[in-house]
Amino acid sequence: MKIIVIGAGLGGLVAAEILGRNGHEVSVLEKCEKENLTYDWHDDISRDIFTELKLPLPEAKHFFTKGCWTFVTPDEKTEVFVDLPEETRDYSMERRALAHLYVERAERYAKIQFGTEAEALLVEQGEVKGVIAGGEKLYADLVIDNSGVFSKLRESLPDSYKIEKNPAKNEVFFAYRAFHKRAEGSPDPQYTNKVYLKHIGEEGISWCVLDPSGTVNILIGRIGELPKEIFDNAYQKLKQSNPIISDEVVRGGGIHAIPVRHPALRLTGKGYALLGDSAFMTIPMMGSGMANSMIAASLLADAVIKAGNASPETLWRYQVAYYKKVGYTHTGADLLKRWMLSADARDLDFLLSKGVISQQDLKNGASGTDISLSFGVILNKIKCAFPRIGLLLNLKATIDKSKKAKKDALAIPETYDLHAIEQWEKKIKSYF
Ligand SMILES: Cc1cc2nc3c(=O)[nH]c(=O)nc-3n(C[C@H](O)[C@H](O)[C@H](O)COP(=O)(O)OP(=O)(O)OC[C@H]3O[C@@H](n4cnc5c(N)ncnc54)[C@H](O)[C@@H]3O)c2cc1C
Repeated sequence: MKIIVIGAGLGGLVAAEILGRNGHEVSVLEKCEKENLTYDWHDDISRDIFTELKLPLPEAKHFFTKGCWTFVTPDEKTEVFVDLPEETRDYSMERRALAHLYVERAERYAKIQFGTEAEALLVEQGEVKGVIAGGEKLYADLVIDNSGVFSKLRESLPDSYKIEKNPAKNEVFFAYRAFHKRAEGSPDPQYTNKVYLKHIGEEGISWCVLDPSGTVNILIGRIGELPKEIFDNAYQKLKQSNPIISDEVVRGGGIHAIPVRHPALRLTGKGYALLGDSAFMTIPMMGSGMANSMIAASLLADAVIKAGNASPETLWRYQVAYYKKVGYTHTGADLLKRWMLSADARDLDFLLSKGVISQQDLKNGASGTDISLSFGVILNKIKCAFPRIGLLLNLKATIDKSKKAKKDALAIPETYDLHAIEQWEKKIKSYF
């Protein structure tokens, strides 16, 4: 089969390698030049993903074991340190080194064209038949869209595909990310990896991390947009709380978009499959998406290789596999994230300072899994939350709703039955 992958993100590269190795004719179109591929910094990725997908790590100089998060309440009066054994912690991975390693591997089996932008989908008789690049029509049996959260290909799909064209404004996080020089003579912080929930009461998070290299890794992210005045104010506040931050930027410094929501409800259509950020596959609470994109790539490749075709039935098997492995948890986690962002900052201060939201809950939220408030647990928590029982019940209702959404997402129809699929989509949509 002829397959075109749009975007050499990690997912696109992993899919290209596996599909090419299994005899398919794969081309990857990537708008950036190879030397500028992805971001010039490190990000966190689960160490298990490399074993699970049998993928190699780059040389040891390109990654290190990340420190443990300390969660800070909006009023900055409570700091919750989440201790994790070193062997279970993520790796902080140089993204370009990892991407280049996977480019090398994919290039053995696929043609990668850097500096080549896919301008549009090639749609004939209402069906995706390929893409248009450099003004030329490139035909393919399958187009894998790995072109990021604002994919212009997804946006131009025929309505009959019933794929969401764009995420809602409150489903995208805009983040300033930079590595600053440590301020001269600043004292060592008590905690090296601090993440500020609803930083200064605003809808988003910020973090300040002192890297082992001595640089200060900063993120200031807000839902929907990050206007200059909001950024300037948040940056000054983050600096006041973290005297290690100097104004000298060493790496990064731009504002980037990350989807923070449940995965798209329809990932595929005839001749077309979404993969990675274009399918909103990040952990809703934190926006991590590298590992999920790689998992999804392997599931997509498996489905296509097993069937030997890219029919709607085959591609639906990919969606079922993704939802059963990852997507269902993110559906539930998205509801918790929405609750947390819309909660009154003082309520969050209270819940964290009293231990109602525990270390374990924060750990689970950050990794996209459950926050569980069972009846037994809630009885215990009533002791800490009294007299804010209304707030506790509100949190409990959100957690119950999130569990129900997760269960419904897991009950995705196994076969490509359009009526059953529409019913399932309707049910999941009703939660948001
Ligand atoms: C500030 C920040 C911090 C983050 N931190 C983390 C983290 O700690 N851990 C984590 O797991 N994730 C993190 N993420 C999210 C992570 O970057 C993404 O989830 C992940 O990279 C998604 O990979 P992908 O396979 O979807 O491809 P992407 O990385 O989205 O790559 C898409 C590629 O498509 C190319 N492209 C776009 N349009 C076209 C076109 N029309 N034609 C050709 N090429 C095109 C782009 O140039 C790009 O190379 C962070 C993101 C940001 C912005």
